[in-house]
Amino acid sequence: MDAMSGHSATSTEETLDPSDWADVQVLSHRIVDDAVAYLRDVRQRPVWQEMPGDVRDFFTASLPQSPTPLADIYGDVVDKVMPYPMGNIHPRFWSWYMGSCNFTGALGDFLAAIQGSNLGGGNHAAALMDGQVVDWCKQMMGMPASASGTLVSGGSMANIIGLTVARNTKAGIDVREHGVAAIEKPLRFYGSDQIHSCHRKGMEALGLGNRALRRIASDASLRIDIQALRAAIAEDRAAGFKPACIIGNAGTVNTGAIDDLQALAKLAHEEDMWFHLDGCIGALIAIAPENAHRVAGIEWADSIALDPHKWLHAPFEAGCALVRDASAHRKTFAVTPEYLESTPRGLASGQWLHDYGLQTSRGFKALKVWMALREHGVEKFGRLIDQNIAQGHYLASLIEAEPALELAAPTSINIVCFRYRAEGLDGERSKALNTEIMLRLQEEGIAAISDTTVQGRHCLRVAINNHRTRREDLDLLVAETVRLGNEIAAL
Ligand SMILES: *Cc1c(COP(=O)(O)O)cnc(C)c1O
Repeated sequence: MDAMSGHSATSTEETLDPSDWADVQVLSHRIVDDAVAYLRDVRQRPVWQEMPGDVRDFFTASLPQSPTPLADIYGDVVDKVMPYPMGNIHPRFWSWYMGSCNFTGALGDFLAAIQGSNLGGGNHAAALMDGQVVDWCKQMMGMPASASGTLVSGGSMANIIGLTVARNTKAGIDVREHGVAAIEKPLRFYGSDQIHSCHRKGMEALGLGNRALRRIASDASLRIDIQALRAAIAEDRAAGFKPACIIGNAGTVNTGAIDDLQALAKLAHEEDMWFHLDGCIGALIAIAPENAHRVAGIEWADSIALDPHKWLHAPFEAGCALVRDASAHRKTFAVTPEYLESTPRGLASGQWLHDYGLQTSRGFKALKVWMALREHGVEKFGRLIDQNIAQGHYLASLIEAEPALELAAPTSINIVCFRYRAEGLDGERSKALNTEIMLRLQEEGIAAISDTTVQGRHCLRVAINNHRTRREDLDLLVAETVRLGNEIAAL
Protein backbone atom coordinates (compact mmCIF):
# COMPACT_ATOMS: atom_id res chain seq x y z
CA MET A 1 0.00 0.00 0.00
CA ASP A 2 1.17 3.51 -0.83
CA ALA A 3 2.17 5.24 2.40
CA MET A 4 0.15 8.35 1.53
CA SER A 5 -3.00 6.75 0.17
CA GLY A 6 -4.19 5.90 3.65
CA HIS A 7 -6.59 3.16 2.71
CA SER A 8 -6.41 -0.54 2.25
CA ALA A 9 -9.44 -2.73 1.67
CA THR A 10 -7.87 -5.63 3.56
CA SER A 11 -6.99 -3.65 6.70
CA THR A 12 -8.40 -4.99 9.97
CA GLU A 13 -7.12 -2.04 11.92
CA GLU A 14 -9.74 0.20 13.49
CA THR A 15 -10.25 3.96 13.46
CA LEU A 16 -12.71 6.42 14.98
CA ASP A 17 -13.52 7.80 11.52
CA PRO A 18 -16.98 6.99 10.17
CA SER A 19 -17.27 4.06 7.77
CA ASP A 20 -19.47 6.20 5.57
CA TRP A 21 -18.55 9.88 5.35
CA ALA A 22 -21.68 10.64 3.31
CA ASP A 23 -23.93 9.64 6.25
CA VAL A 24 -22.06 11.84 8.63
CA GLN A 25 -22.29 14.71 6.17
CA VAL A 26 -26.09 14.50 6.03
CA LEU A 27 -26.39 14.35 9.80
CA SER A 28 -23.95 17.22 10.24
CA HIS A 29 -25.96 19.42 7.90
CA ARG A 30 -29.03 18.72 9.99
CA ILE A 31 -27.16 19.58 13.19
CA VAL A 32 -26.05 22.91 11.73
CA ASP A 33 -29.60 23.71 10.56
CA ASP A 34 -30.93 22.89 14.03
CA ALA A 35 -28.20 24.99 15.65
CA VAL A 36 -29.06 28.03 13.54
CA ALA A 37 -32.75 27.67 14.43
CA TYR A 38 -31.88 27.20 18.10
CA LEU A 39 -30.12 30.53 18.29
CA ARG A 40 -32.56 32.32 15.97
CA ASP A 41 -35.52 31.34 18.18
CA VAL A 42 -33.87 31.74 21.59
CA ARG A 43 -36.20 34.60 22.56
CA GLN A 44 -39.24 32.32 22.17
CA ARG A 45 -38.02 29.89 24.81
CA PRO A 46 -37.92 30.22 28.60
CA VAL A 47 -34.61 31.51 29.95
CA TRP A 48 -34.30 28.40 32.11
CA GLN A 49 -36.40 25.43 33.11
CA GLU A 50 -36.11 22.78 35.78
CA MET A 51 -35.22 19.31 34.46
CA PRO A 52 -37.85 16.58 34.92
CA GLY A 53 -36.91 13.34 36.66
CA ASP A 54 -36.41 11.32 33.48
CA VAL A 55 -33.86 13.84 32.25
CA ARG A 56 -31.92 13.68 35.53
CA ASP A 57 -32.05 9.88 35.45
CA PHE A 58 -30.78 9.85 31.89
CA PHE A 59 -27.44 11.23 33.08
CA THR A 60 -26.88 8.35 35.47
CA ALA A 61 -26.57 5.72 32.69
CA SER A 62 -23.32 3.80 33.08
CA LEU A 63 -20.28 3.64 30.82
CA PRO A 64 -21.30 2.53 27.30
CA GLN A 65 -19.59 -0.71 26.26
CA SER A 66 -20.96 -1.07 22.76
CA PRO A 67 -21.77 1.29 19.88
CA THR A 68 -24.85 3.49 19.38
CA PRO A 69 -25.64 5.14 16.02
CA LEU A 70 -24.63 8.79 15.97
CA ALA A 71 -28.12 9.86 14.83
CA ASP A 72 -29.62 8.30 17.99
CA ILE A 73 -27.05 10.01 20.15
CA TYR A 74 -27.85 13.34 18.54
CA GLY A 75 -31.53 12.63 19.21
CA ASP A 76 -30.70 12.30 22.92
CA VAL A 77 -28.81 15.59 22.85
CA VAL A 78 -31.84 17.26 21.23
CA ASP A 79 -34.22 15.84 23.86
CA LYS A 80 -32.16 15.87 27.00
CA VAL A 81 -29.53 18.59 26.66
CA MET A 82 -30.58 21.40 24.36
CA PRO A 83 -33.87 22.24 26.17
CA TYR A 84 -32.10 22.63 29.55
CA PRO A 85 -29.31 25.18 29.14
CA MET A 86 -27.94 27.47 31.83
CA GLY A 87 -29.66 30.18 29.80
CA ASN A 88 -26.90 32.72 29.27
CA ILE A 89 -27.55 32.92 25.52
CA HIS A 90 -31.06 34.23 26.29
CA PRO A 91 -31.80 37.98 26.07
CA ARG A 92 -33.10 37.99 29.66
CA PHE A 93 -30.21 36.22 31.34
CA TRP A 94 -28.48 38.58 33.79
CA SER A 95 -27.20 36.25 36.55
CA TRP A 96 -23.68 36.40 38.01
CA TYR A 97 -21.44 37.52 35.19
CA MET A 98 -20.99 35.89 31.81
CA GLY A 99 -21.24 36.56 28.11
CA SER A 100 -23.99 35.36 25.79
CA CYS A 101 -21.84 33.60 23.12
CA ASN A 102 -22.24 34.09 19.37
CA PHE A 103 -22.76 31.85 16.37
CA THR A 104 -19.48 32.73 14.69
CA GLY A 105 -17.65 31.84 17.87
CA ALA A 106 -19.41 28.47 17.85
CA LEU A 107 -18.24 27.88 14.28
CA GLY A 108 -14.76 28.80 15.48
CA ASP A 109 -14.88 26.20 18.24
CA PHE A 110 -16.08 23.59 15.75
CA LEU A 111 -13.36 24.38 13.21
CA ALA A 112 -10.71 24.51 15.95
CA ALA A 113 -11.70 20.99 16.93
CA ILE A 114 -11.70 19.82 13.31
CA GLN A 115 -8.25 21.28 12.69
CA GLY A 116 -7.32 19.85 16.07
CA SER A 117 -4.07 21.66 16.84
CA ASN A 118 -2.52 21.61 20.29
CA LEU A 119 -1.61 25.15 21.30
CA GLY A 120 1.21 24.09 23.58
CA GLY A 121 3.15 25.70 20.75
CA GLY A 122 5.12 24.78 17.68
CA ASN A 123 5.39 26.06 14.16
CA HIS A 124 1.87 26.06 12.71
CA ALA A 125 -0.88 28.54 11.81
CA ALA A 126 -2.94 28.12 14.98
CA ALA A 127 0.09 29.07 17.08
CA LEU A 128 0.59 32.24 15.06
CA MET A 129 -3.08 33.09 15.48
CA ASP A 130 -2.87 32.49 19.24
CA GLY A 131 -0.09 35.08 19.39
CA GLN A 132 -2.05 37.45 17.18
CA VAL A 133 -5.12 37.35 19.43
CA VAL A 134 -2.88 38.07 22.44
CA ASP A 135 -1.46 41.02 20.48
CA TRP A 136 -4.97 42.26 19.76
CA CYS A 137 -5.79 42.06 23.48
CA LYS A 138 -2.68 44.13 24.22
CA GLN A 139 -3.82 46.72 21.67
CA MET A 140 -7.30 46.85 23.20
CA MET A 141 -5.75 47.51 26.63
CA GLY A 142 -3.18 50.02 25.40
CA MET A 143 -0.34 47.76 26.56
CA PRO A 144 3.02 48.19 24.74
CA ALA A 145 3.88 45.82 21.90
CA SER A 146 6.75 44.48 24.04
CA ALA A 147 4.29 43.09 26.62
CA SER A 148 3.46 39.40 26.61
CA GLY A 149 0.36 37.39 27.32
CA THR A 150 -1.40 34.08 27.10
CA LEU A 151 -4.88 32.79 26.43
CA VAL A 152 -6.20 30.72 29.33
CA SER A 153 -9.43 29.10 30.44
CA GLY A 154 -10.92 32.25 31.95
CA GLY A 155 -10.52 35.14 34.32
CA SER A 156 -9.64 33.05 37.35
CA MET A 157 -6.69 31.46 35.59
CA ALA A 158 -5.70 34.82 34.10
CA ASN A 159 -5.63 36.36 37.59
CA ILE A 160 -3.58 33.45 38.91
CA ILE A 161 -1.06 33.96 36.10
CA GLY A 162 -0.72 37.66 37.01
CA LEU A 163 -0.43 36.98 40.75
CA THR A 164 2.19 34.30 40.16
CA VAL A 165 4.39 36.64 38.13
CA ALA A 166 3.89 39.28 40.86
CA ARG A 167 4.94 36.84 43.60
CA ASN A 168 8.03 35.62 41.77
CA THR A 169 9.13 39.12 40.78
CA LYS A 170 8.75 40.62 44.24
CA ALA A 171 9.83 37.67 46.40
CA GLY A 172 13.45 38.75 46.55
CA ILE A 173 14.60 35.13 46.14
CA ASP A 174 14.30 32.46 43.46
CA VAL A 175 10.89 31.13 44.49
CA ARG A 176 10.85 28.59 41.70
CA GLU A 177 13.96 26.93 43.08
CA HIS A 178 13.54 27.43 46.81
CA GLY A 179 9.80 27.74 47.38
CA VAL A 180 7.80 30.21 49.43
CA ALA A 181 9.24 28.97 52.74
CA ALA A 182 12.55 30.60 51.79
CA ILE A 183 11.03 34.07 51.33
CA GLU A 184 12.60 36.31 53.95
CA LYS A 185 9.79 38.71 54.73
CA PRO A 186 6.26 37.36 54.28
CA LEU A 187 4.66 38.86 51.16
CA ARG A 188 1.45 40.83 51.39
CA PHE A 189 -1.05 41.43 48.57
CA TYR A 190 -3.84 44.02 48.79
CA GLY A 191 -7.27 44.40 47.23
CA SER A 192 -10.61 45.84 48.27
CA ASP A 193 -13.19 43.94 50.31
CA GLN A 194 -15.09 43.58 47.00
CA ILE A 195 -12.39 41.43 45.40
CA HIS A 196 -13.46 38.29 43.48
CA SER A 197 -13.12 34.93 45.24
CA CYS A 198 -10.64 33.64 42.62
CA HIS A 199 -7.93 35.75 44.27
CA ARG A 200 -8.37 33.82 47.47
CA LYS A 201 -7.93 30.56 45.56
CA GLY A 202 -4.91 32.08 43.87
CA MET A 203 -3.25 33.08 47.16
CA GLU A 204 -3.88 29.61 48.50
CA ALA A 205 -2.49 27.88 45.40
CA LEU A 206 0.57 30.15 45.46
CA GLY A 207 1.35 28.95 48.97
CA LEU A 208 1.01 32.46 50.38
CA GLY A 209 -2.27 31.74 52.12
CA ASN A 210 -5.52 33.61 52.25
CA ARG A 211 -4.37 35.92 55.07
CA ALA A 212 -1.57 37.29 52.91
CA LEU A 213 -4.33 38.98 50.87
CA ARG A 214 -5.39 42.00 52.91
CA ARG A 215 -8.91 43.18 52.15
CA ILE A 216 -9.07 46.95 52.35
CA ALA A 217 -12.36 48.65 53.16
CA SER A 218 -14.28 50.06 50.22
CA ASP A 219 -15.96 53.48 50.28
CA ALA A 220 -19.63 54.41 49.75
CA SER A 221 -19.28 53.72 46.01
CA LEU A 222 -17.67 50.33 46.73
CA ARG A 223 -14.26 51.48 45.45
CA ILE A 224 -11.10 50.75 47.40
CA ASP A 225 -10.34 53.42 50.03
CA ILE A 226 -6.91 54.64 48.94
CA GLN A 227 -6.05 56.23 52.31
CA ALA A 228 -6.88 53.00 54.11
CA LEU A 229 -4.73 51.09 51.60
CA ARG A 230 -1.81 53.46 52.12
CA ALA A 231 -2.11 53.06 55.89
CA ALA A 232 -2.27 49.25 55.65
CA ILE A 233 0.88 49.14 53.52
CA ALA A 234 2.76 51.34 56.01
CA GLU A 235 1.54 49.28 58.93
CA ASP A 236 2.61 46.00 57.30
CA ARG A 237 5.99 47.35 56.36
CA ALA A 238 6.59 48.46 59.96
CA ALA A 239 5.52 45.00 61.18
CA GLY A 240 8.12 43.23 59.00
CA PHE A 241 5.97 42.19 56.04
CA LYS A 242 6.87 42.89 52.44
CA PRO A 243 4.03 44.65 50.59
CA ALA A 244 4.31 43.06 47.14
CA CYS A 245 1.20 43.61 45.03
CA ILE A 246 -1.88 45.80 44.72
CA ILE A 247 -4.84 44.20 42.95
CA GLY A 248 -7.14 46.77 41.38
CA ASN A 249 -10.71 46.07 40.29
CA ALA A 250 -11.97 47.34 36.96
CA GLY A 251 -15.54 46.37 37.73
CA THR A 252 -16.28 44.50 40.96
CA VAL A 253 -18.49 41.48 40.72
CA ASN A 254 -21.02 42.74 43.30
CA THR A 255 -21.76 46.18 41.89
CA GLY A 256 -19.40 46.91 38.98
CA ALA A 257 -17.43 49.51 40.96
CA ILE A 258 -14.20 50.59 39.29
CA ASP A 259 -11.30 51.43 41.62
CA ASP A 260 -9.31 54.62 41.03
CA LEU A 261 -6.81 52.84 38.78
CA GLN A 262 -4.54 55.84 38.27
CA ALA A 263 -4.20 56.33 42.03
CA LEU A 264 -3.48 52.61 42.50
CA ALA A 265 -0.86 52.59 39.73
CA LYS A 266 0.82 55.63 41.28
CA LEU A 267 0.79 54.15 44.78
CA ALA A 268 2.18 50.82 43.55
CA HIS A 269 4.97 52.69 41.79
CA GLU A 270 5.85 54.76 44.90
CA GLU A 271 5.89 51.64 47.07
CA ASP A 272 7.82 49.51 44.56
CA MET A 273 4.91 47.08 44.35
CA TRP A 274 3.37 45.13 41.48
CA PHE A 275 0.07 46.50 40.13
CA HIS A 276 -2.23 43.72 38.94
CA LEU A 277 -5.58 44.58 37.46
CA ASP A 278 -8.59 42.28 37.69
CA GLY A 279 -10.32 43.44 34.54
CA CYS A 280 -12.49 40.36 34.02
CA ILE A 281 -15.56 42.55 33.94
CA GLY A 282 -14.34 45.98 32.95
CA ALA A 283 -10.96 45.89 31.21
CA LEU A 284 -12.73 45.74 27.85
CA ILE A 285 -14.50 49.03 28.63
CA ALA A 286 -11.25 50.42 27.23
CA ILE A 287 -12.69 49.76 23.72
CA ALA A 288 -16.07 51.41 24.43
CA PRO A 289 -15.98 55.02 23.19
CA GLU A 290 -18.47 56.52 25.65
CA ASN A 291 -17.15 54.80 28.75
CA ALA A 292 -13.43 54.20 28.19
CA HIS A 293 -12.64 57.13 30.50
CA ARG A 294 -13.89 55.01 33.43
CA VAL A 295 -10.89 52.69 33.15
CA ALA A 296 -8.20 55.30 32.58
CA GLY A 297 -4.96 54.03 34.07
CA ILE A 298 -5.49 50.44 32.96
CA GLU A 299 -2.50 50.73 30.61
CA TRP A 300 -0.22 51.34 33.60
CA ALA A 301 -0.88 47.91 35.11
CA ASP A 302 2.00 45.43 35.37
CA SER A 303 -0.46 42.63 34.60
CA ILE A 304 -4.08 42.47 33.50
CA ALA A 305 -6.63 39.67 33.61
CA LEU A 306 -9.39 40.01 31.05
CA ASP A 307 -12.16 37.73 29.95
CA PRO A 308 -13.11 37.35 26.27
CA HIS A 309 -15.92 34.98 27.32
CA LYS A 310 -17.58 37.92 29.05
CA TRP A 311 -17.75 41.14 26.99
CA LEU A 312 -16.42 39.64 23.74
CA HIS A 313 -19.08 36.92 24.06
CA ALA A 314 -16.70 34.12 23.08
CA PRO A 315 -18.27 30.72 23.81
CA PHE A 316 -16.69 29.26 26.97
CA GLU A 317 -13.81 29.19 27.61
CA ALA A 318 -11.52 32.10 26.85
CA GLY A 319 -9.58 34.23 29.29
CA CYS A 320 -6.42 36.26 28.75
CA ALA A 321 -3.52 37.29 30.99
CA LEU A 322 -1.26 40.14 29.89
CA VAL A 323 2.08 41.02 31.49
CA ARG A 324 3.91 44.25 30.73
CA ASP A 325 7.38 42.79 31.36
CA ALA A 326 7.58 39.85 28.95
CA SER A 327 10.76 38.49 30.46
CA ALA A 328 9.27 38.44 33.99
CA HIS A 329 6.35 36.51 32.53
CA ARG A 330 8.52 33.96 30.76
CA LYS A 331 10.89 33.60 33.72
CA THR A 332 7.94 32.63 35.89
CA PHE A 333 6.82 29.65 33.81
CA ALA A 334 9.38 28.60 31.20
CA VAL A 335 10.90 25.14 31.52
CA THR A 336 12.48 23.23 28.68
CA PRO A 337 12.57 19.51 29.27
CA GLU A 338 14.63 17.43 26.87
CA TYR A 339 11.53 16.20 25.05
CA LEU A 340 10.41 19.75 24.23
CA GLU A 341 13.58 21.27 22.86
CA SER A 342 13.20 23.61 19.89
CA THR A 343 14.65 22.84 16.49
CA PRO A 344 15.90 25.40 13.94
CA ARG A 345 13.33 24.35 11.33
CA GLY A 346 10.22 22.22 11.16
CA LEU A 347 7.33 21.71 13.56
CA ALA A 348 9.29 22.37 16.77
CA SER A 349 10.68 25.71 15.63
CA GLY A 350 8.68 28.72 16.76
CA GLN A 351 7.45 29.62 20.25
CA TRP A 352 6.51 27.16 22.94
CA LEU A 353 3.34 28.82 24.16
CA HIS A 354 3.27 26.61 27.26
CA ASP A 355 6.19 28.68 28.58
CA TYR A 356 3.70 31.42 29.58
CA GLY A 357 1.41 29.51 31.92
CA LEU A 358 0.75 26.30 33.80
CA GLN A 359 -0.78 24.15 31.08
CA THR A 360 1.28 22.12 28.64
CA SER A 361 -1.38 21.10 26.14
CA ARG A 362 -3.60 24.04 25.28
CA GLY A 363 -6.82 24.31 23.27
CA PHE A 364 -7.20 26.39 20.12
CA LYS A 365 -9.18 29.16 21.85
CA ALA A 366 -7.94 31.90 19.55
CA LEU A 367 -10.03 30.94 16.51
CA LYS A 368 -13.45 31.73 17.98
CA VAL A 369 -12.23 35.11 19.24
CA TRP A 370 -10.37 35.89 16.02
CA MET A 371 -13.29 35.06 13.73
CA ALA A 372 -15.80 37.15 15.69
CA LEU A 373 -13.43 40.12 16.00
CA ARG A 374 -12.82 40.06 12.25
CA GLU A 375 -16.48 39.61 11.39
CA HIS A 376 -17.72 42.56 13.44
CA GLY A 377 -14.63 44.69 14.01
CA VAL A 378 -13.58 45.83 17.46
CA GLU A 379 -15.61 49.06 17.17
CA LYS A 380 -18.86 47.12 17.25
CA PHE A 381 -17.80 45.24 20.38
CA GLY A 382 -17.05 48.64 21.93
CA ARG A 383 -20.50 49.93 21.01
CA LEU A 384 -22.13 46.82 22.49
CA ILE A 385 -20.33 47.49 25.78
CA ASP A 386 -21.60 51.08 25.74
CA GLN A 387 -25.07 49.69 24.98
CA ASN A 388 -25.01 47.37 28.02
CA ILE A 389 -23.81 50.20 30.27
CA ALA A 390 -26.59 52.47 28.97
CA GLN A 391 -29.07 49.64 29.62
CA GLY A 392 -27.75 49.33 33.19
CA HIS A 393 -28.43 53.01 33.78
CA TYR A 394 -31.83 52.71 32.08
CA LEU A 395 -32.79 49.88 34.44
CA ALA A 396 -31.59 51.93 37.43
CA SER A 397 -33.83 54.80 36.31
CA LEU A 398 -36.83 52.45 36.00
CA ILE A 399 -36.19 51.20 39.53
CA GLU A 400 -35.87 54.72 40.90
CA ALA A 401 -39.20 55.61 39.32
CA GLU A 402 -40.95 52.54 40.76
CA PRO A 403 -42.11 53.06 44.36
CA ALA A 404 -42.19 49.29 45.09
CA LEU A 405 -38.47 48.94 44.32
CA GLU A 406 -35.29 50.57 45.59
CA LEU A 407 -31.69 50.63 44.43
CA ALA A 408 -29.33 48.89 46.84
CA ALA A 409 -26.04 50.29 45.52
CA PRO A 410 -24.88 52.99 43.12
CA THR A 411 -24.97 51.86 39.48
CA SER A 412 -21.59 52.45 37.91
CA ILE A 413 -21.68 50.37 34.74
CA ASN A 414 -23.92 47.44 33.76
CA ILE A 415 -24.62 45.90 37.19
CA VAL A 416 -27.75 46.97 39.04
CA CYS A 417 -28.43 46.01 42.67
CA PHE A 418 -31.93 46.55 43.96
CA ARG A 419 -34.68 45.09 46.10
CA TYR A 420 -38.43 44.88 46.37
CA ARG A 421 -39.32 47.07 49.28
CA ALA A 422 -42.07 45.95 51.62
CA GLU A 423 -43.17 48.11 54.53
CA GLY A 424 -41.98 46.97 57.92
CA LEU A 425 -39.98 43.91 56.78
CA ASP A 426 -36.77 43.23 58.71
CA GLY A 427 -33.58 42.09 56.94
CA GLU A 428 -34.38 38.38 57.22
CA ARG A 429 -37.88 38.67 55.82
CA SER A 430 -36.81 41.08 53.11
CA LYS A 431 -34.19 38.53 52.05
CA ALA A 432 -36.75 35.71 52.03
CA LEU A 433 -39.20 37.77 49.96
CA ASN A 434 -36.62 38.93 47.44
CA THR A 435 -35.13 35.44 47.12
CA GLU A 436 -38.60 34.10 46.38
CA ILE A 437 -39.05 36.74 43.63
CA MET A 438 -35.71 35.72 42.09
CA LEU A 439 -36.60 32.01 42.16
CA ARG A 440 -40.02 32.57 40.60
CA LEU A 441 -38.53 34.74 37.86
CA GLN A 442 -36.24 31.80 37.08
CA GLU A 443 -38.86 29.05 37.46
CA GLU A 444 -41.43 30.87 35.34
CA GLY A 445 -38.76 31.23 32.67
CA ILE A 446 -39.10 35.02 32.63
CA ALA A 447 -35.59 36.14 33.54
CA ALA A 448 -32.48 34.82 35.23
CA ILE A 449 -31.11 37.21 37.84
CA SER A 450 -28.98 36.50 40.90
CA ASP A 451 -28.56 37.99 44.36
CA THR A 452 -25.82 39.18 46.66
CA THR A 453 -25.15 41.12 49.84
CA VAL A 454 -23.87 44.68 49.59
CA GLN A 455 -22.86 46.72 52.65
CA GLY A 456 -24.43 44.07 54.86
CA ARG A 457 -27.81 43.98 53.14
CA HIS A 458 -29.22 41.39 50.76
CA CYS A 459 -30.32 42.50 47.32
CA LEU A 460 -31.20 41.28 43.85
CA ARG A 461 -28.58 41.77 41.19
CA VAL A 462 -28.81 42.21 37.43
CA ALA A 463 -25.61 42.10 35.35
CA ILE A 464 -26.30 43.01 31.72
CA ASN A 465 -23.45 41.44 29.76
CA ASN A 466 -25.64 40.44 26.89
CA HIS A 467 -25.73 41.52 23.24
CA ARG A 468 -29.33 40.27 22.86
CA THR A 469 -30.92 42.31 25.66
CA ARG A 470 -33.30 45.09 24.61
CA ARG A 471 -34.77 47.83 26.77
CA GLU A 472 -38.20 46.16 26.55
CA ASP A 473 -36.67 43.15 28.33
CA LEU A 474 -35.77 45.42 31.24
CA ASP A 475 -39.28 46.95 31.23
CA LEU A 476 -40.64 43.41 31.52
CA LEU A 477 -38.25 42.56 34.36
CA VAL A 478 -39.41 45.53 36.42
CA ALA A 479 -43.09 44.81 35.78
CA GLU A 480 -42.73 41.12 36.64
CA THR A 481 -40.65 41.80 39.74
CA VAL A 482 -43.32 44.15 41.05
CA ARG A 483 -46.09 41.69 40.18
CA LEU A 484 -44.35 38.79 41.92
CA GLY A 485 -43.36 40.95 44.90
CA ASN A 486 -46.97 42.09 45.36
CA GLU A 487 -48.26 38.50 45.05
CA ILE A 488 -45.78 37.07 47.51
CA ALA A 489 -46.13 39.94 50.00
CA ALA A 490 -49.92 39.47 50.00
CA LEU A 491 -49.65 35.83 51.12
C1 LIG B 1 -15.77 36.52 36.26
C2 LIG B 1 -14.78 37.14 37.16
C3 LIG B 1 -13.62 36.45 37.54
C4 LIG B 1 -13.41 35.00 37.22
O1 LIG B 1 -13.38 34.79 35.85
P1 LIG B 1 -13.78 33.36 35.21
O2 LIG B 1 -13.74 33.64 33.77
O3 LIG B 1 -15.16 33.05 35.72
O4 LIG B 1 -12.80 32.38 35.70
C5 LIG B 1 -12.68 37.15 38.27
N1 LIG B 1 -12.86 38.42 38.63
C6 LIG B 1 -13.97 39.10 38.29
C7 LIG B 1 -14.11 40.53 38.72
C8 LIG B 1 -14.97 38.48 37.56
O5 LIG B 1 -16.08 39.14 37.24
